[in-house]
Amino acid sequence: NKPEVFKLNAVLREVSDFYRPQSERQGIVLHQRLETDGAISAFRSEIVQVITNLLLNALDATPAGGQVIIHLYSAPRWLCDIHASCGYCLSIADSGSGIAPQDRARIYQPFFTTKGERGTGLGLWVSAGILDRIGGSIRVWSTRRPGRSGTCFSLFLPVEQAIF
Ligand code: ADP
Ligand code: MG
Repeated sequence: NKPEVFKLNAVLREVSDFYRPQSERQGIVLHQRLETDGAISAFRSEIVQVITNLLLNALDATPAGGQVIIHLYSAPRWLCDIHASCGYCLSIADSGSGIAPQDRARIYQPFFTTKGERGTGLGLWVSAGILDRIGGSIRVWSTRRPGRSGTCFSLFLPVEQAIF
């Protein structure tokens, strides 16, 4: 079982197509902006799992009338210098509840959930582990203001050199 080289676009389309009916039932508009056609080297099923986790978290947090935006772009050189190795930025933003300031340090811990019996608290912990193993990283930005809140998770993913 070895990592494969594959394009992120196809995986993103697959996952968002699968959850589009659920988004529509929830009254959430799912936008997708794919600005690059990058290939990465990873276990495809793990990347599907990470994207699924983040998308389902976004759908859980967002009330009807909200939006989720999936955005894939080439990370600029100056950002790549900050992160050890990266090439693509995949962000999943939602207009949902935001994350409470006191929870922000705990969301990557195993079994931390604010969803009671419905949550496992494993999604972000597993996702961070997967990103770590492929030399990527995960960052979160979140805000909670009256009438205006949301969360954006950004994944930095290493370019697969072999395609150039
Ligand atoms: P679970 O979804 O089972 O609760 P996760 O590890 O996926 O476990 O997420 C942990 C917690 O992080 C969630 O319970 C929630 O409190 C918070 N969280 C994650 N994503 C979001 C988001 N997009 N908006 C608001 N809170 C979030
Ligand atoms: Mg989750």
